[in-house]
Amino acid sequence: MINHQLIVVGGGLAGLRAAVEARADGIDVAVLSQVWPGRSHSGAAQGGINAALANDPEGHDDTPEKHAFDTVKGSDYLADQDAAIQMTSDAPGVIFEMEHWGCPFSRYDDGRIAQRPFGGAGYPRTCYGADKTGHYLLHTLVERAYQRGITMYTEQFVTRLIVHDGRCIGVVAYDMTKGGFEAFCGEAVIMATGGAGRTYSNTTNAIISTGGGMAMAYQAGVLLKDMEFIQFHPTGLLTTNILMTEGARGEGGYLINDLGERFMSKYAAKAMELAPRDITSRSIQTEINEGRGIGGKGYVYLDLRHLGAEKIMERLPGIRDLAIHFEGVDPIEEPVPIVPSQHYTMGGIDTDVNGATQLPGFYAAGECACVSVHGANRLGGNSLLETIVFGRRSGAAAARYIQGEPGGGAQAAAAPSAAAVQEMAVAVDRLASGAGSEDSYAIRAEMTTTMKEHFGIFRDAPTMRTGLDTMLALKERSRHMTLRNKFGVFNLDMMRTLELEGMIDVALATATGALARTESRGSHSRTDYPARDDVNWLKHTLAHYQPEGPRLDSKPVTLGTFEPQERKY
Ligand SMILES: Cc1cc2nc3c(=O)[nH]c(=O)nc-3n(C[C@H](O)[C@H](O)[C@H](O)COP(=O)(O)OP(=O)(O)OC[C@H]3O[C@@H](n4cnc5c(N)ncnc54)[C@H](O)[C@@H]3O)c2cc1C
Repeated sequence: MINHQLIVVGGGLAGLRAAVEARADGIDVAVLSQVWPGRSHSGAAQGGINAALANDPEGHDDTPEKHAFDTVKGSDYLADQDAAIQMTSDAPGVIFEMEHWGCPFSRYDDGRIAQRPFGGAGYPRTCYGADKTGHYLLHTLVERAYQRGITMYTEQFVTRLIVHDGRCIGVVAYDMTKGGFEAFCGEAVIMATGGAGRTYSNTTNAIISTGGGMAMAYQAGVLLKDMEFIQFHPTGLLTTNILMTEGARGEGGYLINDLGERFMSKYAAKAMELAPRDITSRSIQTEINEGRGIGGKGYVYLDLRHLGAEKIMERLPGIRDLAIHFEGVDPIEEPVPIVPSQHYTMGGIDTDVNGATQLPGFYAAGECACVSVHGANRLGGNSLLETIVFGRRSGAAAARYIQGEPGGGAQAAAAPSAAAVQEMAVAVDRLASGAGSEDSYAIRAEMTTTMKEHFGIFRDAPTMRTGLDTMLALKERSRHMTLRNKFGVFNLDMMRTLELEGMIDVALATATGALARTESRGSHSRTDYPARDDVNWLKHTLAHYQPEGPRLDSKPVTLGTFEPQERKY
């Protein structure tokens, strides 16, 4: 058993920002990550991070309150308004802090941080570093974390929480470099494991974005909130779903159909290509469904040619590289074929504005959490902001909790942590006993295509019911999976099999929530219930884990400042 006061699971932006904050409060912090932190999915973020700095000449009267309004309107009024206001008020401060810690933001000639327009925003509010914003932010925090003496345990694959006497006191991890399971115990745990994009076959997310932290929390009895809200980004590359940032449209890129039309004029006459993502993705899908995809096929074009070589090379160099290497298309010369692709998990572990959950000692931050600031549809640039704002707040809250209960968790940890490690060994033995007949790779492939085809951009009851039945059957089949190999280091077969059990549970929460919510709101668009229904559905869904499938209930949305209205762009 390894002991630290605070165990942070996840070395992305949320986990590292939490760790740095708790360390500054004098806490002994360990970060566990399945990859070296600098390789977390946060590093793939391209377009930017929002804050009402009012640096752009056209945005000089921007304020945190206007940012909060855009966020709440973008969320289709499902975001908790106190949380959105908290995030947008904290935003300028955390950006300046990242700047002071060395993040190389792009700048205007006068030296101030540059800001580009993004979807659903009333002002150019998105701070960026070319099209590598996530990479710059992440490396700034990786440096800071090492410099501040935070202990890093990399290539540790966390599999479950340790809960004792109603408190979370640690986690169990498979040590990929040495083999075997180990308990990491502390007085509090912060989960910061990112999104669950890999539950879909058509995602922009990294291979490790499998929703593991959500699954572990859920299986330990913590609630998942609003899981039916899945964001489809308008512009993934046709053949790989690799992301072409919204910044490409922020810099002036067009969306074009087979007739050569900028078709967004039909759907969002004012905002055009910079409508929010839910609306833009539905518009693209409608063009495709009605036969106006390129050559009548299932894609449209992102056209950047009119921006010119110089602007593309300066502002979007990474986008150009990705298009050349993964689609064989140079955006300076040709339009880029794109399709809407799964991109972001709006729902997640139910937390308050300090990252606290209903389980004492257990906190969550970043994409695995649902505070909620994104509601039914996240605005581009608000997720990087969420990781840093709520990473920082949860680190501070966990430190306060630990300081209030000195020694509590760790002293009691020996027996329950040994039992938890033993349970993992037994679970692996059972999988490897050869009694099962099911291949986990086949189950995973069927699950991800079911989620894509039955819980996609447009949804209806018959399609979702068939999808849910398939998912429940896959859950049953997953009880009979077999491991090819239970020993050794870097046992990917074991990791992928263990992780699949959690992915199915998380996907089932999405599927059940989507079928239950009989309205259209933000990203959840039902052809059989096309209108938003504030009378019955202005509320968050909550999923309770049960072995046979989720049980749902709900809780109210925090309203207050902004009256729900029809969204027009
Ligand atoms: C391609 C792409 C581009 C994006 N661009 C933008 C953008 O421009 N602006 C914006 O606001 N948002 C953007 N987003 C969204 C945003 O980047 C993410 O929501 C955010 O970075 C998530 O950060 P995180 O810290 O929550 O998790 P991540 O960065 O995903 O980190 C998760 C961490 O958890 C660890 N982990 C996971 N499971 C386990 C386990 N079982 N055991 C141990 N460790 C584990 C991983 O090793 C990793 O360190 C983008 C997302 C993608 C996919």
